[in-house]
Amino acid sequence: MSIALKQVFNKDKTFRPKRKFEPGTQRFELHKRAQASLNSGVDLKAAVQLPNGEDLNDWVAVHVVDFFNRINLIYGTICEFCTERTCPMMSGGPKYEYRWQDDLKYKKPTALPAPQYMNLLMDWIEVQINNEDIFPTSVGVPFPKNFLQICKKILCRLFRVFVHVYIHHFDRIIIMGAEAHVNTCYKHFYYFVTELNVIDRKELEPLKEMTTRMCH
Ligand SMILES: [Zn+2]
Repeated sequence: MSIALKQVFNKDKTFRPKRKFEPGTQRFELHKRAQASLNSGVDLKAAVQLPNGEDLNDWVAVHVVDFFNRINLIYGTICEFCTERTCPMMSGGPKYEYRWQDDLKYKKPTALPAPQYMNLLMDWIEVQINNEDIFPTSVGVPFPKNFLQICKKILCRLFRVFVHVYIHHFDRIIIMGAEAHVNTCYKHFYYFVTELNVIDRKELEPLKEMTTRMCH
């Protein structure tokens, strides 16, 4: 990432502390390996494949945390342009509207302005990945049985951030010169969720045309 772009990302006030992997743990090693494979000229399609002998849950865990950190930053770059006035609904064009639901305040799917939806979404994911019962950090502590199910939900919700950003705020991304960065992140995400089959195909519909052009 260029210095200019870094500044764009860092100036954001909604920047959240990153969830990090502890050095020395197996997951940290896996995280490093996943990162290293993304260096120059990388084939993203190959980079997302589960390495031989690695545990699927570990592989998904490092990617979920990594995607959350990166997508959170991407939304952070445009969040000042995503307001209740510009985006009174959390939508992806006229055809798709997302409703928020959780176990707390919104027990029924509820239509919300995009910035409010995004905040709830990022907070909710942050709670999940910082929950030791779901994302254990100690060596030898197993993942819960429903781990992949939870990760699927996280990834499905993260995809909606891409949908909203691409359809409603991509002009800003271009003005900031972050287009290539966002596209690479999207491609990486798309290859990952389709390679490991961790997203419902109908979720991908809103960006289908773009994806066909971008990902081969
Ligand atoms: Zn918006």
